Amino acid sequence: MVSNEQQTIKMPLITEIQRFCLQDGPGIRTTVFMKGCPLHCPWCHNPETQNRKREIYYYPNLCTGCGRCVEVCPQEACTLEIGSDGTPSIKIDRDQCIACTSCVDACMSGAREAVGQMLTMDEILRECLSDQPFYKRSGGGVTLSGGDPLYFPDFSLALSRRLKEKGIHVAMETSCFPNFKVIRPLLDTIDLFIVDIKSMDPVKHRQAIGWPLEPILENIGLLIENDANVRIHLPIIPDFNDSADDCRAYVNFLAPYAEMLTGVDILPFHAYGEGKYNFLGRTETYAYKGVEDKPGEQIRILARELSKAGIVGINVGGVVGMGTEKGERPQRREVVN
Ligand code: SF4
Ligand code: SF4
Repeated sequence: MVSNEQQTIKMPLITEIQRFCLQDGPGIRTTVFMKGCPLHCPWCHNPETQNRKREIYYYPNLCTGCGRCVEVCPQEACTLEIGSDGTPSIKIDRDQCIACTSCVDACMSGAREAVGQMLTMDEILRECLSDQPFYKRSGGGVTLSGGDPLYFPDFSLALSRRLKEKGIHVAMETSCFPNFKVIRPLLDTIDLFIVDIKSMDPVKHRQAIGWPLEPILENIGLLIENDANVRIHLPIIPDFNDSADDCRAYVNFLAPYAEMLTGVDILPFHAYGEGKYNFLGRTETYAYKGVEDKPGEQIRILARELSKAGIVGINVGGVVGMGTEKGERPQRREVVN
């Protein structure tokens, strides 16, 4: 049954509730991935969380070419094709697909999967609470992620409030894109904001990501001003934000907040999401196909310069909150050389 709460707030589809996460905040965590984000980072490694509507994965390696999906598709979006080596595969016209999931139900070999589930608040909460003893022992909790949880601020507020009532630490991974008045109510229920900065160049930021940089930087300042615990994520993307100038700009922006930040995670580029673009039929949209994911010298320099600027809790690779209980502001420590 749909609760009153659920009727009044915009509920996201959930792509996954992942348990035993170690990289989305301090301790052992359960991470709730919401489907929907207004930004479109070309390197996104969770492309299934960008579009807020349900989508369909197609796994060609599992497809037997039985043709059942072709028969059941009400949109005639599926076509059976036979490769030159005799291997069958299905071509899906994604513009025609309405994500009705008939093909998922019809496929006996698991070659189709619906991405994005509509769960009730109680179902989500139940899943989040199932690892409560582990949170207690490890200083962990629940992380709201996506997509971007601020795309669903009412839901994020309601869920975080319910979690706080149970005494659970709540973190949020976000790009902090909306007006601060959307964020302000969450100050009472989010223990740790983990905020991505993708570039310090406003022109590049808007062009590549489709969103202005200025409100994001302003919101980081406002979060800190309001005594929120803030941790910064810096994804380092080859030929986009990995130059010496880019790194200098990060240091210049973050240095004045050195005393107030809980830490910075430098996230070297990886191409783990490439397969998902293929399964979603979006191979052509992935601009980082074949790009090597080896951390460059610039990352080491960035870590050193951030440390010299007085920032503590610096990690390379995104293991968030190491050495800090509950993601609170850590004690100062030696500069990394
Ligand atoms: S989900 Fe899309 S491809 Fe599958 S049956 Fe429905 S319309 Fe056709
Ligand atoms: S129903 Fe499944 S196995 Fe059969 S052709 Fe369609 S995707 Fe392939």
